[in-house]
Amino acid sequence: MPCWMHIFPYPVRFATLLSVIRMITMEKLMTDCLFCKIAAGEIPAGKVYEDDDVFAFKDIHPKAPTHVLVIPKMHIATLSDCDDPAMLGMLMDRVGTIADDVLQLAAGYRVVINVRAGGGQEVFHLHAHILGGKKLPF
Ligand code: AMP
Ligand code: ZN
Repeated sequence: MPCWMHIFPYPVRFATLLSVIRMITMEKLMTDCLFCKIAAGEIPAGKVYEDDDVFAFKDIHPKAPTHVLVIPKMHIATLSDCDDPAMLGMLMDRVGTIADDVLQLAAGYRVVINVRAGGGQEVFHLHAHILGGKKLPF
């Protein structure tokens, strides 16, 4: 009869424990997160676009005639927490598609990502603001 401690040596069991803790932490963050709830349809929002990876909706306090937020469906608290270049590339690709094809901002638009409290971030789920519909001062 093989001993399970030989089949799953200490480093493997430690890694398993870490991934379970990470899953529980992520679950807790997602259940507490306003934008995760919006993406899941648990809180109503003015949806403008959705696919498997992103959800886009109207900002509740618009700072321009068109003001849309684009979020990854995966919970990432802030830009500096994301170490996945493919995910960031995908997000920027969708931002461009939504701005041009869905919102029809042919005259142009601005994309803003506020990072952490000092950068003005209030909701800690990564999101890109798309602002347009008027000439934007800088
Ligand atoms: P930030 O300051 O970059 O974190 O941006 C958060 C944005 O989320 C702000 O522009 C808010 O107006 C917007 N916001 C907060 N709650 C909601 C909501 N329930 N639906 C739509 N937009 C929201
Ligand atoms: Zn979230």
